[in-house]
Amino acid sequence: MIDSALIEAVKKRLNDAGRVAVLTGAGVSAESGVPTFRGTGGLWKNFRAEELATPGAFARDPELVWQWYNWRRNELKALKPNPAHTAIAAMEEAGSGFRLVTQNVDGLHALAGSKDIVELHGNIWRSRCTGCFEIKENRELPPELSDIELPYCAKEGCGSLLRPDIVWFGEALDQGVLTRALEAIDSAELIFVVGTSAVVQPAASFAMRGKEMGAYVVEVNPGDTPISDYVDTRFQEKAGVVMPLFI
Ligand code: NAD
Ligand code: ZN
Repeated sequence: MIDSALIEAVKKRLNDAGRVAVLTGAGVSAESGVPTFRGTGGLWKNFRAEELATPGAFARDPELVWQWYNWRRNELKALKPNPAHTAIAAMEEAGSGFRLVTQNVDGLHALAGSKDIVELHGNIWRSRCTGCFEIKENRELPPELSDIELPYCAKEGCGSLLRPDIVWFGEALDQGVLTRALEAIDSAELIFVVGTSAVVQPAASFAMRGKEMGAYVVEVNPGDTPISDYVDTRFQEKAGVVMPLFI
């Protein structure tokens, strides 16, 4: 049962707050059919994401890593934003002091209409050159997913191998992106933490950092997380059910 008085109280905070941040993780896309990493259905050919989304895996076997990303992009291409993505986009529309920080790479926030998105971990629909670092949109898929022809940079004089524009396990976040995320968190009066297991750093520490800076923190997650006991309010429900109630 969702406590409607609590919903109203958070809604009032949302309307009164000058600055609001929403931090999302894989759980916000679960109702769109995107498997989370920590949960069932996240496996590909018996590999765990942590074994493929690493610079070491790409150095050892770039074909395997590209095959996995092509498989993931193929799984994602028909998926649609869900009511949680739509509600978050509506929050941005409603207020000027709104910031969205996501760990997701699936592009669904943008599809739902969110405009100013801090993508902490990159975007699966972009590739990045390992030589000249140029970033390009990458929506093409091979006709047969098992066929893999490695992609190379088309820029004259470069020709280096392309990689997904994703921050892999063990890699540092882009400094500019991290700065924008921390600005959003540090200045927020109200922070929603939606569908994140709060174990992947540095995003895992953002909510508690925001709370220390004086923000009121609301967690939306059907499961327990390391921050559940410390937030100001929690809704132990699906994001697609709760987030639209604040609009
Ligand atoms: P996670 O997989 O570690 O945790 C998902 C969390 O979502 C869990 O706490 C779970 O209880 C919760 N959840 C599940 N269904 C939910 C729902 N309907 N509503 C609200 N919450 C729900 O995800 P994470 O914390 O984002 O960390 C995983 C890392 O993997 C991130 O770095 C992310 O970049 C990446 N990842 C991204 C995607 C994506 O782009 N959609 C998918 C899988 C993993
Ligand atoms: Zn290049």
